[in-house]
Amino acid sequence: RRALGSLGKSRAKFISAEETTGVTFDDFAGQEYIKRELQEIVRILKNEEEFQDKGIYCPKGVLLHGPPGTGKTLLAKAIAGEAGLPFFAANGTDFVEMFVGVAAARVKDLFVNARSYAPSIIFIDEIDAIGSKRGGPDIGGGGAEREQGLLQILTEMDGFKESTAQVLVIGATNRLDILDPALLRKGRFDKIIRVGLPSKDGRLAILRVHARNKYFRSEAEKEALLQEVAELTVDFTGAELQNILNEAGILTARKDQDYIGREELLEALKRQKGTFETGQEDSTEIPEELKLRLAYREAAVAVLACFYPEPHCPFVETDIRTIRSKPNMRYAETSGRAFLRKSDYINSIVRACAPRVIEEEIFGIDNLCWISATATTDASRRAERLILQTGMTAFGKAYYRNQGDLVPNLAAKLEALRNEYMRFAVEKCSAVLREYRSAVETITDILLEKRVINAEEIREIYKKSPRIPQPPVNP
Ligand code: ADP
Repeated sequence: RRALGSLGKSRAKFISAEETTGVTFDDFAGQEYIKRELQEIVRILKNEEEFQDKGIYCPKGVLLHGPPGTGKTLLAKAIAGEAGLPFFAANGTDFVEMFVGVAAARVKDLFVNARSYAPSIIFIDEIDAIGSKRGGPDIGGGGAEREQGLLQILTEMDGFKESTAQVLVIGATNRLDILDPALLRKGRFDKIIRVGLPSKDGRLAILRVHARNKYFRSEAEKEALLQEVAELTVDFTGAELQNILNEAGILTARKDQDYIGREELLEALKRQKGTFETGQEDSTEIPEELKLRLAYREAAVAVLACFYPEPHCPFVETDIRTIRSKPNMRYAETSGRAFLRKSDYINSIVRACAPRVIEEEIFGIDNLCWISATATTDASRRAERLILQTGMTAFGKAYYRNQGDLVPNLAAKLEALRNEYMRFAVEKCSAVLREYRSAVETITDILLEKRVINAEEIREIYKKSPRIPQPPVNP
C-alpha cells in the first residue's frame, strides 16, 4: 500500500484523500433512521465475506440528497470512519472542464486511486454537476464533456462486478430531480437516502453535538439555552446551527467572558439568519418524523394515482396538515356511474398498497408505524371483494356476501387466490414507486415545504421526473 499522503501532490489534485476520516455516527445528530440505514451498510462493509455467504451484498452506490448544510458530507465521512476505510472525495464540478476528455480521465483517476486502496469509499459531492439528465438543456455549457464524465462513472460502477475490490461510491446532491436516471438504476446508486432539515428534537441534538467543546456556566443553563435556540431555529440546517454556536463563542471571547450566555447566543442567531421571529412554531405541530412519513405516504399515493388514473373520480389535492391512518388525498365528486372493469379492481388493489410499500422502502420493515397500517387491510378487502362479489376471477361466478358464506375448502381457495392478488399488488406497487422514485421525492419535498400540493402540480412532476426502468411484474 502506498501512503495516502502522496496522493494530494499527484496530478490528481482534485481528489482529497484521507486514510481515515475520524468521523463517527456520533458526530451526526437528528434523523436517527438515516443512521440506522447507514449502520446496516457499515456492518456489511466490515463483514463483507460473512454477509456474502448469506447472499447479502453491500450496495455499490448510495445517494444522499437534501438541502446544502444538512450533513451529507458528514454522513459520507462517518461511513468511512465507522467502517475504518480510506476516503476519496471529489466534487462534481471538478469534472467539468473546458478541455475535451478531462472529465472522463478525472473520473477514471478517482476510481483507479480508490481501487488501489480497496476496500474504500468514494464520495462525489454535487454529483448533479456531472450527472444531470443527458439531452436536457445545457446550462453553463460543457454538455458533451459532462456526458463523457457521466458515462465514465457508469462504466466504472458497472465494472465493479468483475473486480473483487469493494469500493462504495457515495454521491450527494440537492437536485435529485435533474439526475440522469441511468445513475439511479440497480447496481449503481440504488440506495437513495433523503437528508432533510432537522426537526426541533433534531436541532437540539445537533446543538448538543456542537456544544460539546464549548463552555457554559452550568450543565442546566446550557441545556435550557440550547432548548431555546432549538425552538427558534425552524428550517435551520445543521451547518447553520453549528455556525450559531461558533459565532456565540467568538462573541463571548471578544467580550472577554468565560462562558457563552443567552445574549451571545441570541446575537449569533440574529446574525445567522438576518432577523428571526419568536414563537413561529406551533406547539401543537405534528412531530417532524411523522410529517416526513406523512409526506412520503401522500407522495406515493399521488404517484400511484397518476399511474392508474381514474377518470370517473380524479384526484384533487393532498396535504400533510392532518394525521389520519388513511391517505389525505382528496378526490372529486364521482360524476355519473362508474364503469369498472376487472383491471380497474386490480389497479385499485395496487394503489391501496402504496402507503405500506413506501413506508417499508424508506423506513425499513422493522420501523413501520401505524400511518400505513390500514393500507394492508384496505388492499386485502379490495382483493376479497373482487374474488367474492364480482364473479370475475378464477374463484367462480357465484356471489358471496363475505367470507362467512364459504364452506371450508372454498375458504382455503379464497385465501390462496387473495394471496396471489396481494403478492402481485405489492410487487407492482413497489415497481411503480421505484420507477417513479424521483417524482415521489420531489412531491415529498414540496409537501414538507408547503404542506399541500394540488393535482396539477402533481401531474406536472409525474410527467417531468426521470424514471428508472423496472423489470416487468407478472400477474
Ligand atoms: P452537506 O454536505 O449536506 O452540504 P455538510 O456535511 O458539509 O453538509 O455539513 C456542514 C457541517 O454542518 C458539518 O460538518 C457539521 O459540522 C454540521 N452539521 C450539518 N448537519 C449536521 C447534523 N445533522 N449533525 C451534526 N452536525 C451537522
